[in-house]
Amino acid sequence: MKDFEKSWSLIDPEYVTKLKSEIVLLNISRMKMFLESILVLQLLTYLILFVISGVSSVYTFEYSGSLTLFFALLVFSVIEYVWVTHQKKGFLSRRITAETINNNLLIIVGFITTWGALLSVCLSGNDAVDNVYLLSLMVTSFMFYMEEKSQGIIFVISSMFYLVGHIFFAESSLQVMDYLNLGVFIALSWVVGRMNYQSYLGFHKDQCIIHDKNNLLQEVNADLTNEVMEKQEIMRDLESANAMLRKISAIDELTGVPNRRKLNEVVLYEWRRSQRERNDIAIFMIDIDNFKSYNDIYGHVAGDVVLRKVATALNRFSMRPTDFFGRYGGEEFTFLAVNMSKDNILHFANRMRAAVEGLKIEHTIDGKPSYLTISIGSTLAKPYCGDEVDKAFKRSDMALYMGKHDGKNTMRFLDLDDEVRCRKG
Ligand code: GH3
Ligand code: MG
Ligand code: MG
Repeated sequence: MKDFEKSWSLIDPEYVTKLKSEIVLLNISRMKMFLESILVLQLLTYLILFVISGVSSVYTFEYSGSLTLFFALLVFSVIEYVWVTHQKKGFLSRRITAETINNNLLIIVGFITTWGALLSVCLSGNDAVDNVYLLSLMVTSFMFYMEEKSQGIIFVISSMFYLVGHIFFAESSLQVMDYLNLGVFIALSWVVGRMNYQSYLGFHKDQCIIHDKNNLLQEVNADLTNEVMEKQEIMRDLESANAMLRKISAIDELTGVPNRRKLNEVVLYEWRRSQRERNDIAIFMIDIDNFKSYNDIYGHVAGDVVLRKVATALNRFSMRPTDFFGRYGGEEFTFLAVNMSKDNILHFANRMRAAVEGLKIEHTIDGKPSYLTISIGSTLAKPYCGDEVDKAFKRSDMALYMGKHDGKNTMRFLDLDDEVRCRKG
């Protein structure tokens, strides 16, 4: 198998081993087919000769050199057939190596060609059959895949038999044309054998290259897919980190409700939406009453707890998707609601006020025991009528101030200025 080592050194060794064993199996099946045809032809010939010799007096069985050769071929074919069948099993179960099978192949080819050479010697002078040798060369070259060197050795040995046999033992000696004929035939058989073998190897080499390239492509593809997946995972992580950051930056750390930054965002959004959809926006400014004194009496930490309690209680009022509740700053909160009538605003504010009072957070006001309360200033903003954010918030602040001024635990409403009043429809 030197041809392999020479030209296949760059190809995947696993593939080369597989191909080597494929060639061996192919040679085995051809050897069997070859031996089977020899056996069948031989038996048929014997049968015909036997029948002819029985019914006709023209032909009689006589001992001759060629008959011995035919008999030797029969015995050889039977033995080889059994042996090859046994070797195939051994090769498949890995007991017999490819080398052994190849040696056996050389024995068969060597025997057949030498047999052909000797038969040609025996039958020389009989023009119809004396080039059995040449035929055996051609057939074996075409049928089996053999290495150059092995084929060469067989050709040389059988040619020696052919030449020596003809020079010393044949009935008729070889003419110049016969030598020429023999040379051309040997060269042709050699070329046929080579072409046959090389085209088989070439085809598999191409297959192997395609196979290798395919593997490489698949690997590159897998790498790319992995890379894309990794990038997608990083993107997902980044997106969720971003979402988390957005959420954190919009939430007030102490109370857990949306902070001033979020309030500004929502106000801007609602203002634009109102300009498009002509919505009224109710703004509630909520302020804890006497909170400074609460901190002074109960401490800042207790003040923080109260801020959380109040925020949680008021946040429950945010029920519609368009409602918004957030911490404005300090002890002040803001509530926004879309399309709420003036009556509803007052009613709603009163419910919020009562909810905080209902928390029954003890407080001491002017030395007397009491509960913590809130005051609420509210207004109705109409951005679609040209109402401005600052003015609207100032109005609800004013309402809150009015409430505080009148005493605490109050809610007040301050309507729009005349110049921004307009009809909704
Ligand atoms: P009014 O009834 O007029 O609203 O009086 P007030 O004492 O509630 O109002 P003022 O503006 O005088 O005081 C607000 C206090 O709120 C002062 C500040 O110490 C307190 N405060 C603001 N933010 C926080 C906070 O995050 N935690 C605590 N514990 N107190 C805060
Ligand atoms: Mg305040
Ligand atoms: Mg206050």
